[in-house]
Amino acid sequence: MLKFQIKMMEDKSKFLDRLTDQEKQLDSSGKEGRKDEFLEKTIPFTCKLCELSEMVHYHGRKPKFVKNLVEFNEDAYLMIDPFSARETRFGNNFLQVGGDCSHCGAAVCVDCSIFYTRRFCLTCSEFYSSEFPTDVQTRIQKLGQGRKDMDK
Ligand SMILES: [Zn+2]
Ligand SMILES: [Zn+2]
Repeated sequence: MLKFQIKMMEDKSKFLDRLTDQEKQLDSSGKEGRKDEFLEKTIPFTCKLCELSEMVHYHGRKPKFVKNLVEFNEDAYLMIDPFSARETRFGNNFLQVGGDCSHCGAAVCVDCSIFYTRRFCLTCSEFYSSEFPTDVQTRIQKLGQGRKDMDK
């Protein structure tokens, strides 16, 4: 699912590149330059479990580009959707790719982790499964099952 979303964003991004080239010819005021700089992906992210690997825009708790959000309660890896970002001038159009497991510290994607007060990678959450409430345990089991299905 996540990989599909990222693929879609990459396609949009290519579309955006073409659009930007056209606009550069029309608009020489330099306004676009600042945006492009902002949208540069500078942080490498690799999921410890599924090895999903992406360059992301931001790692941390207080992204400036997210409107009306005081703080994430974890260090999140975020990608900005370049297409909708243009339309809303950096509204809430971002995709959280992953976070850091609060137990082992590994970077994991949202598909390989759960968030229950803090983020836990699937390995740690399965290990400490009995510590979580029943509904969270069910989510952990489903995630684990999904991964095993993928490996087949
Ligand atoms: Zn993963
Ligand atoms: Zn962990």
